[in-house]
Amino acid sequence: MTALAPGATLGIVGGGQLGRMTALAAARLGYRCHVFTPEADSPAGQVAAAVTCAEYDDLAALARFAAAVDAVTYEFENIPLASIRALDGKVPTRPGPRALQVSQHRVIEKTFARDHGVETTAFEAVASADDLARALARLGTPAILKTCRFGYDGKGQLRIDRPEDGPAAWQSLASDDAILEAAVPFEREISVIIARGGDGTLAAYPAVENHHVDHILDTTIAPAPVTPEVAAAAVGVAETLATALDLVGLLAVELFVTASGRVLLNEIAPRPHNSGHWTQDGAVTDQFEQLVRAVAGLPLGDPAVVTPTVMKNLIGAAVDKWPSYLTQPGARLHLYGKGEVRAGRKMGHVNWVGGAPPVQPDA
Ligand code: AMP
Repeated sequence: MTALAPGATLGIVGGGQLGRMTALAAARLGYRCHVFTPEADSPAGQVAAAVTCAEYDDLAALARFAAAVDAVTYEFENIPLASIRALDGKVPTRPGPRALQVSQHRVIEKTFARDHGVETTAFEAVASADDLARALARLGTPAILKTCRFGYDGKGQLRIDRPEDGPAAWQSLASDDAILEAAVPFEREISVIIARGGDGTLAAYPAVENHHVDHILDTTIAPAPVTPEVAAAAVGVAETLATALDLVGLLAVELFVTASGRVLLNEIAPRPHNSGHWTQDGAVTDQFEQLVRAVAGLPLGDPAVVTPTVMKNLIGAAVDKWPSYLTQPGARLHLYGKGEVRAGRKMGHVNWVGGAPPVQPDA
């Protein structure tokens, strides 16, 4: 793979905060970014050299975009696979369509993991109310019913505590492409982000611990306070899956850790991940630069931890307290340029470096 020289243009499909922070990292290395997004005034578009504002399935606009860039990456999974395939036929697209295809569908994802020796919770594909009844009989309760596609931040999933609650859960899920998972009695949730270069080189960040509020990531503690065995097993899962997917770019793996130290895969994302935002201030090379390096064919950077870091998302109205973070010792503020504050919307985040405990602004 020939490395792209500074001055080349990277295409980013998706206009959210992950694209924004990727474009900022690309600019530091002298690249231009061209963002493809249906959103006018998107977080990524605000900091890019060029923007194509079009729907993700607009093949003519995608073809013009492909002709204007030297390589492409994408910043979220809910892009039509056909669009990424169309781009990949015209311009190097990293990670490629395979990683997107696997991560877009929960049954394909968990089956892929199992086939490569990665442990998941017990699961069954569910396409009807009868399937669900059978799956509940096999897996037992509590169990989690999820749509296979387009779920994020806890949307498209329901917990079922008693088998007789199955029919109502099926009604309210309103999907004929679902998965039932045995609920994992996890002790903690962790994740690993790994970069893989075009020559197969791997660079993993250490496992981090994640805390959710209302199904949305709230806080990440880096590195995770886990045993060396758990930390190594988590990185091993990321290495196995990134290699098996033959992915060039970033792979985030979300994992459950049980009280006995078992590490089970929950899901993967072939892109920068919210639980990797700490790397902007706590690692030698942040996850966004690492993605840019992989996509541009540069050597991967050093993923080592410089300082323990705690990341907290600013969700919805929490962003209104942004001035208070400017003067806190150890705090670094990152805002995404989103105009409208909505409940549950990720507006920014704060990284506390040096292991300083996060200080919450007064209510
Ligand atoms: P997901 O969209 O699959 O990442 O799920 C969102 C959150 O729901 C996870 O971070 C967990 O807190 C919880 N969750 C999802 N699946 C399971 C499961 N099989 N067992 C226990 N908790 C789960």
